[in-house]
Amino acid sequence: MNLLVLMYHRAQAGPHGNDPALLEAHFAHVARHYPCVRPGQPLASGRLNVCLSFDDAYFDFHRVVFPLLEKYSLPAMLAVAPGLCSEATGVAPEIRLVQPDLGLQTPECTYGLCTWPELRELAGSGRVTIAAHGLNHVRLDDPAADLEQEIVGPQRLLAERLGVTVENFVFPYGRFSSRALALTRRHYRHAFRIGQAGNRDWSQPLLYRVSADNLADAAAPFAVTRLQAYRIRAWWNRLRRK
Ligand SMILES: [Zn+2]
Repeated sequence: MNLLVLMYHRAQAGPHGNDPALLEAHFAHVARHYPCVRPGQPLASGRLNVCLSFDDAYFDFHRVVFPLLEKYSLPAMLAVAPGLCSEATGVAPEIRLVQPDLGLQTPECTYGLCTWPELRELAGSGRVTIAAHGLNHVRLDDPAADLEQEIVGPQRLLAERLGVTVENFVFPYGRFSSRALALTRRHYRHAFRIGQAGNRDWSQPLLYRVSADNLADAAAPFAVTRLQAYRIRAWWNRLRRK
């Protein structure tokens, strides 16, 4: 296992996030101890390489996480469901920061997510790799899901609106059917799921991520027992050709 992809959501304490002070201590730990890579970037040999991935593009990524990435010179991947993004919001930043998680939002109520101008700023920074996260953040193991729209659609839309090439796809809720996976592989270089496992390298067609929300402490994902569990799971996945 040479590559550990960490998955985050919010920059606020709770089951789907971390308090900003803890997140900062965690980033400082990563910057001090591990090579931090963006998707597809060559890995440092003989080291555990770390990739940071944030899902859903909550406003707190722009307001809290991005300045911390700049401070510690860390790259990150941001998974965006562009069908939910708006051009502008009249809502105050303090309200946007405490908007409930994506699963609780209605389409009229997406002010807790980054707007297009905010995404453009992030994409243009050179520090944030924009990934597609479905068009409307629906489950892609649902037989009713329009796979062409949800998988190919966001790649086109993000490229058009942000001027970036989108090579990475993050499955919403980590769920997908074999048809969804096949279509994703045709259009993207890397596909990401959850699965609490490490990875050998970027050549894996389906990359595993481990949750780094609700951390017990700054170094929690790197505890010896945790890394051992991620290694065993990576080995088992290889054996199953998963
Ligand atoms: Zn998501």
